[in-house]
Amino acid sequence: MRRKIKNAANYSDVVLIGAGIMSATLGVLLKELQPDLKITIFERLDLVAGESSDAWNNAGTGHAALCELNYTPEKPDGSVDCSKALKIYDSFQVSRQFWAYLIEKGILPSPESFIQSVPHMSFVHGENNVNYLKKRYDILSQYAPFKDMSYTEDGEAISKLIPLVMEGRNPEEPIAATYTDAGTDVNFGNLTRMLFDYLKSKDDVKIRMHHEVTELKQLEDGNWCITLNNLATKKSNKKKIYAHFVFVGAGGGALPLLEKSGIEEGKGFGGFPVSGQWLKCNNPDVIERHNAKVYGRAAVGAPPMSVPHLDSRMIDGKKELLFGPYAGFTTRFLKEGSLMDLPSSIKLNNVIPMLQAGLHNIDLTKYLIEQVMQSPEDRLEALKEYFPNAEMKDWELLMAGQRVQVIKKHPELGGVLEFGTEIVAASDGSIAALLGASPGASTAVDIMVQLLQRCFKEEFATEEWQEKIKAMIPSYGQSLVADESLFKQINDWTNEVLGLKSTTVTV
Ligand SMILES: Cc1cc2nc3c(=O)[nH]c(=O)nc-3n(C[C@H](O)[C@H](O)[C@H](O)COP(=O)(O)OP(=O)(O)OC[C@H]3O[C@@H](n4cnc5c(N)ncnc54)[C@H](O)[C@@H]3O)c2cc1C
Repeated sequence: MRRKIKNAANYSDVVLIGAGIMSATLGVLLKELQPDLKITIFERLDLVAGESSDAWNNAGTGHAALCELNYTPEKPDGSVDCSKALKIYDSFQVSRQFWAYLIEKGILPSPESFIQSVPHMSFVHGENNVNYLKKRYDILSQYAPFKDMSYTEDGEAISKLIPLVMEGRNPEEPIAATYTDAGTDVNFGNLTRMLFDYLKSKDDVKIRMHHEVTELKQLEDGNWCITLNNLATKKSNKKKIYAHFVFVGAGGGALPLLEKSGIEEGKGFGGFPVSGQWLKCNNPDVIERHNAKVYGRAAVGAPPMSVPHLDSRMIDGKKELLFGPYAGFTTRFLKEGSLMDLPSSIKLNNVIPMLQAGLHNIDLTKYLIEQVMQSPEDRLEALKEYFPNAEMKDWELLMAGQRVQVIKKHPELGGVLEFGTEIVAASDGSIAALLGASPGASTAVDIMVQLLQRCFKEEFATEEWQEKIKAMIPSYGQSLVADESLFKQINDWTNEVLGLKSTTVTV
């Protein structure tokens, strides 16, 4: 067991690096589980949720696999693999339960400020894609959470739901859509800020903005020494603080810090940055005529998380319409990062996995280069796939958040590029970093509970923590997908507390 230095002024039981949704979630979970913990949070920007977690930097989809076709890939034999979709559904329900618990406890003030019901739809055209969507629907609709989803190939029915997607479309072309009212739009930025407001109100929690973590070093007694730069003073002033446990929740900035920690488990990891852009609609009449998140199928070589979608959003009480994200390439790991981020992350221990991953992903590289070279006309073409009568004058281009995809060693291939999220933790549980960004914020609670299981093993196994986890996440350890009555009970409760729609209109 590592020695705690309880009384030292510059000691914290827990240090969280980064003020995004992940640190916010972990901080609140830890404070609920062990209220006397001393926690310090460091953030390099002067605002909470300034990177990927801000509403304008991510798509705000409550990822529950209700519309995202990249979670249900078509296998070479033509069958559709729904296993990932079912896992993500369960994971999102873990978040919903924790948020409902926080509302009931008064920790989160109101659900409307961060979560809304928005229909989730998949829309495809072309015979192959129609066949694929039907197969996907046939499998998913056997499971309780997807039973209310409807499937149609009827253009008139689809027109009533998403007129913008149908107007101007070739009536001869085969089309199909699925529809459910059970979808959500989540303002992860507001949620993060509310969680931080709560943390700020607690004794023993300190939040230090404009503080960049520059070094991480484990001491002989197992504790960590964290070196900081106070960016507000604009001069290098290497302050040190000590911690028993460190979470590197630095989003795109996690990989460089993991490398600095020097832990064995972090060796061989690399990062591949994928930037994003949206088209934001500025025409109120157009915004008003669309009411759904409509996801399609990715182009060949496209990274799975950049499947474009035409999205109704609620941001700061205002309805918005966004299309994208268009993926792109930069060498920055953070939106507010440096062009040197990628080159300086290349080390002896990850150069082979990175080169090999590059060689195995020529399609992706080609796709990203094409995306970077896109002209406004090309972007309009992509938008017209979803909204045939779109006019460029109604749209403006905005930068989305930055994602860093995980590259890791592979015994046969040398290195692979992954599109998920990965917790990398030291074997002594004293430090953990979160790499990757998909499905991301929607599954923050599940990911952070997994992290607690790995890094706070002894505490997690106690009756006290187990009871508290069950109070926060009543379905903990069970699958809602596999148990219809549990699904109903939990879904009804979270719908009611979070103010979400509970029935779906069949189309
Ligand atoms: C284009 C796009 C679309 C997305 N769409 C969705 C979606 O629809 N649904 C969904 O669930 N998820 C989505 N995601 C993913 C989601 O946004 C992320 O998974 C999530 O926000 C990550 O949270 P985080 O706390 O790990 O990172 P962030 O929110 O990026 O926070 C990390 C923080 O760490 C700080 N930091 C970095 N380095 C340091 C350092 N050295 N010292 C101190 N502070 C540091 C940064 O400034 C930042 O504030 C999307 C992401 C992108 C980019």
